Amino acid sequence: MSLFSSVYRERNAEVRGILDSVRCPSPKRVDEILAHSQSEPPSLSEIAELLQIGVTAGADSDAQFEMLRAHTRKHWRASSGNAVRYVSPIYVSSYCVDACPYCNFSARRLDTVRYRLSLAELDREIASVLARDARVVELVYATDPEYDTDLLVRDVSRTVRAVENLEGGGVLLCTEYLSSKAYEALADAGLRGIVQWDETLDEQAYSRWHSASPRKANFHTRMDNHDRALAAGLDVATGALFGLADFRYDALMQVARARYFAQAYGRGPFVMGTARLKPIGGRELRLETTVSDRAHETALMVYKIALPQTGRWLQTRETFDMNLRNLLDGDVFTYSCGDVQPGGYTQINTTSVAGAQFGVNELERDYVDNELAKQGFHINYGWMTAPRALAVR
Ligand code: SF4
Repeated sequence: MSLFSSVYRERNAEVRGILDSVRCPSPKRVDEILAHSQSEPPSLSEIAELLQIGVTAGADSDAQFEMLRAHTRKHWRASSGNAVRYVSPIYVSSYCVDACPYCNFSARRLDTVRYRLSLAELDREIASVLARDARVVELVYATDPEYDTDLLVRDVSRTVRAVENLEGGGVLLCTEYLSSKAYEALADAGLRGIVQWDETLDEQAYSRWHSASPRKANFHTRMDNHDRALAAGLDVATGALFGLADFRYDALMQVARARYFAQAYGRGPFVMGTARLKPIGGRELRLETTVSDRAHETALMVYKIALPQTGRWLQTRETFDMNLRNLLDGDVFTYSCGDVQPGGYTQINTTSVAGAQFGVNELERDYVDNELAKQGFHINYGWMTAPRALAVR
């Protein structure tokens, strides 16, 4: 099996070298890069130039920023007929052994109200999201030691049975990193893909944020998690959590990694996560690096220019205005996340922030439908294509 860790040092050095000397491009240079991107994928150096627009003072970068906006809208946002792909996350457990400071499920947060769904409760949550038209379900677990491979296979099989006859339906899984054997068993159970953000591929920054986490602290084993899933025949969603390190480094490394996946496995990520650190439950985070709206939106547009076949997962942690402004055809967008806690759809536990993983903007469906329609978008609830033939193992 090919592993990203085998090329990590090389990519890391390349990206750091590029960032050492990158400058904000002139409007003429932006024009050249965008024109060039029509015939071949932009190089990492070109992508770094575009990212620099996000950290350059407004007066010196407004025109370039608007060029990115015009370009992405021209190519990936028509006046009508755009679709966003819907995913319903179902939180199964909020027990966690890890201690990420930006997450309310951290083992160190003693006042978090925790819950683990019983099988009957999981069934109720599945029925609840299917009754709302969801067809693609993402089962979400913290690093809960209770859930070994057998239990994950049990939950996935159960959810697969609930969606397998629904057009475009499928099951995704968000857990901490797993073994190849676990992914093979999950793929055999009908799992279609995994969702895992890398947080950051900056090893030092990763260590600062995660050294207190007994399992997640293992940077290299975690980094190769997507390789293990891809080799088992699963699709992958990846991405960085912007704000843990220099967002330009993270965006560049994500593009480098997506291209590596395409080369090694014949397919890149089906979607790039675009999460940005936010305060949780009224508690501020002491960030070493902040990612402004301008920087965040620049990264979103640059992802699309660099990886045109890949959607972006616009986050409910952001305001709806921000998401509406940035949506492009084929993106993933979810307006209800079950309050990001176990039992959120059927109100089994609590719907207060005391039980939620982080703060989100839960929205009403009618409102979202209307606002999306004004911008030429509709929601595609059943977007998964037929399962690929299983990889030869
Ligand atoms: S981000 Fe994941 S691993 Fe970290 S504390 Fe939260 S649930 Fe646990």
